[in-house]
Amino acid sequence: MASDSRPVAGWWRTGLCRAVLTALLLLLPLIGSSAGEVVSVVRAGSLLDIVNERLLSDQMITIQGGRILAVQPWSAAAVPENATVHDWSAWTVLPGLMDMHTHLADSAQSANVLAPLEMTAAQSVLQGVAHAERTLLAGFTTVRDVGVWRAFNDVALRDAIDGGIVPGPRMAVVGAYITVPGGAGDITGQAFDVAVPADLRFGVVRSPDEVRERVRTLIQNGATFIKTLATGAVLTTGTQIGAQELSEEELRAAVAEAAQYGVYVTAHAHGAEGIKAAVRAGVRSIEHGSLLDAESIELMRERGTWLVADIYNAEYIDRAGRLEGWPAEMLAKNDATADVQRENFRKAHAAGVRLAYGTDSGVYPHGDNALQFAWMVRYGMTPMQAIRAATLSAAEMLGWEEQVGSIGPGKWADLVAVPGNPLEDITVLETVVAVMKGGSVYLEPARN
Ligand SMILES: [Zn+2]
Repeated sequence: MASDSRPVAGWWRTGLCRAVLTALLLLLPLIGSSAGEVVSVVRAGSLLDIVNERLLSDQMITIQGGRILAVQPWSAAAVPENATVHDWSAWTVLPGLMDMHTHLADSAQSANVLAPLEMTAAQSVLQGVAHAERTLLAGFTTVRDVGVWRAFNDVALRDAIDGGIVPGPRMAVVGAYITVPGGAGDITGQAFDVAVPADLRFGVVRSPDEVRERVRTLIQNGATFIKTLATGAVLTTGTQIGAQELSEEELRAAVAEAAQYGVYVTAHAHGAEGIKAAVRAGVRSIEHGSLLDAESIELMRERGTWLVADIYNAEYIDRAGRLEGWPAEMLAKNDATADVQRENFRKAHAAGVRLAYGTDSGVYPHGDNALQFAWMVRYGMTPMQAIRAATLSAAEMLGWEEQVGSIGPGKWADLVAVPGNPLEDITVLETVVAVMKGGSVYLEPARN
């Protein structure tokens, strides 16, 4: 993970945790213990073991300092003295879910394409605070946030969460979109002589040199990874989904510059030519991938490029867009990508392309992130494969697999509980009843 210490620092700064630790330290002489031995325990009725693809029953998860110490059958272990016990024995416990395509630190998508110009950066990031909490309470304890209109709002939100100031998921962030002028990541729709604030156009680039300079600045100011826009977008008016925007040379410049810092690049891409240019340039992942052709699927499989396809999203755009009167151009582009993206998702999965769960939350309401699981199962995945895409596979794509993505010793205690068996009914993931992140409980199951 980019910074291991941040979530711990956040945990420390939480007033309640400080108070509890202070009390324990005062009790030290009485209980003959040390603060280092303070543990909590989760009793899991069932536990989904992602690594070995099996469901275990009645397990004890022992947690210390926010991390998992041990996982063992309840009957085989004694509850450590003075441990806090979370009784989740009526539920199935999974690793915290992970959404690899969110937009937390912005206002929600609406019919108004000029909405980003109608609020200050502070107003939009404060909306992000509510989005982050909603996402966490829906069971998503880690997100890869793929961009903001106002540069560095995502960095501010990530830092506030890691600092324990506001609740939210662990966030990988980009700082700003790397995009061509008038392209998918630029603000469009206003008159050409309207002065747009500089932070709304921070990532707009006109050459490979500008790409390198902007990538450096983003990383120096807190970006975890780089988001490029390789083609037009469904929801950016005036752009075409099939048209390549950043050149292959510019994409290569982004990948090479980011690599200097050990940072990877992802590319938003709908059209096949833009997808292939980005894959050849060496991006780690393709967002959307709507118009994949056989050649691009083969290229991605060969290169190990991840696909993050938001195959629930089009359903929401169609419904809300028609109801709320979103621009006809958006709805037409949505129609042109909805079904073909799902079929291409099926083909890519069958061909062995690596898939990670990503939904484009922010286009649809934050907190509904789990609705995509059912679509992934409908389009060719087993429930276990879909859950793996939203846990261990997502962690591997982030390079955070030592920290999150499964329930095992040494990993952060990021856990969720759901009613029933998600391997039999994937939709139970839509009703998460308990959420723990880094050993802190954010949602407890109601007593049954
Ligand atoms: Zn997006």
